[in-house]
Amino acid sequence: MNNDLLWSKVLNKIQTEVNSIVFKTWFKETKLYTIENNIATIIVPMEIHRKRLLDTYKDLITGALLEITNVIYDINILLEDEIIINKEVDISIPKKEETITFKHASNLIKSYNFENFVVGNSNKLAHASALAVAEAPGQTYNPLFLYGSSGLGKTHLMHAIGNYIEENSNKKVLYVSSQQFIDDFSKISRRDDNNKTNYDYADYFKNKYRSLDVLIIDDIQFLATKPKTQEEFFHTFNILYNDNKQIIISSDRSPNDLKLLEERLKTRFCWGLTVDIYPPEFELRKNILKKKIQGANIHQKIPDDVIEYIASNMTSDVRNLEGAINRLMAYSLMMGYNEINLPMAVDALKDTINKGTSEKTNILKVQKAVADYFQISVDDLKSKKRSASIAFPRQIAMYLSRTILNESFERIGLEFGGKDHSTVMHSCDKIKGEINNNMEIKNSVEKIKESIL
Ligand code: ADP
Ligand code: MG
Repeated sequence: MNNDLLWSKVLNKIQTEVNSIVFKTWFKETKLYTIENNIATIIVPMEIHRKRLLDTYKDLITGALLEITNVIYDINILLEDEIIINKEVDISIPKKEETITFKHASNLIKSYNFENFVVGNSNKLAHASALAVAEAPGQTYNPLFLYGSSGLGKTHLMHAIGNYIEENSNKKVLYVSSQQFIDDFSKISRRDDNNKTNYDYADYFKNKYRSLDVLIIDDIQFLATKPKTQEEFFHTFNILYNDNKQIIISSDRSPNDLKLLEERLKTRFCWGLTVDIYPPEFELRKNILKKKIQGANIHQKIPDDVIEYIASNMTSDVRNLEGAINRLMAYSLMMGYNEINLPMAVDALKDTINKGTSEKTNILKVQKAVADYFQISVDDLKSKKRSASIAFPRQIAMYLSRTILNESFERIGLEFGGKDHSTVMHSCDKIKGEINNNMEIKNSVEKIKESIL
């Protein structure tokens, strides 16, 4: 019996034992490469298949083979390209030039991966879209455009996508900051003036960017003031996109808010999926802190009330949470404490945590104070009701959340029943104007403020 026939029998057998999605995903594209010396070598398309088959389906395969051949085989699994590499390595001595040919560096930071990215409501969609793109680059959402304020995990997610793709395929991935792209591009124009090697460089540039399977470009807002680089990026984008290559872009604002960016680029950015990532909610902040503590190998126990203290006071971005943990550790080391407790944390973080806000001041506290003052409910503030008796207090509450707590517009919007950040921005501007023009309103706002602080 030849290998193909034998394998089709094995697959028929397996097909009767697993559901059709499992069969289609993990078995359909497998082949039997060799079967000798009690070892069956199977070829699979990607690393993820190998892992899955070895972790979960090894016994099933051994059993099916045993039934058909009456022999117990060990299972060995290879990727298609490993076979080619094996053969080449066997027959050829590496040539010198090979070591000097263009070596592709992806610039990926390995420690930014999906495993250590903590998911909560505010980044759930961004995370799921990133994973979907990582699982099927060029096939699901192209381009993927991630946006949100600084420190919310955009760069982390982009590296996670790149790392996942590199681990599970042979695709050529490149991560660049917009600045790097600008620098690369400016080298072409610089050399243009004085020597002919510019052509080589232009080729290098094109080769570097246009031969990729996955281009990840971070902080695209920096291209806004560079029309020539935008032009080049436009061509690169078109070539990659038309070839079904995956493009992943991040920015601190949505495509439409990228004021100086060419219209045709903005249009393209919206062709795929545009996802925003919000500032982390309380639960997520707590979970991120716990994960960071685990990852940092901190042996001291950090009590829950300390974690809650940090999570309720550091609200704007994840970088601050990391900073707080580092500060806490440094402080306990410096002061020779071997136990971390709340009073110590309060002391260690007193300079970082907003002055003038008591420990428990948060958006809810502001909402309660405003609701009390106007004799409405917090739910009203969060509702969609537009009557002036509700909308006006809501605007004041948003304004106070911004000015007292320094919360981001996105986060305030989220805490007020999912309002858009531009609505919050508008409310804050409006109340600011009213305070300047209307003594009565100014006094009301002052009174509420006093009741909060
Ligand atoms: P951005 O690119 O949006 O400014 P980064 O990706 O640089 O933000 O994130 C800032 C820091 O916070 C990084 O160290 C990153 O690992 C961490 N971080 C952000 N979000 C998360 C998360 N959900 N889980 C774990 N770490 C996170
Ligand atoms: Mg970033």
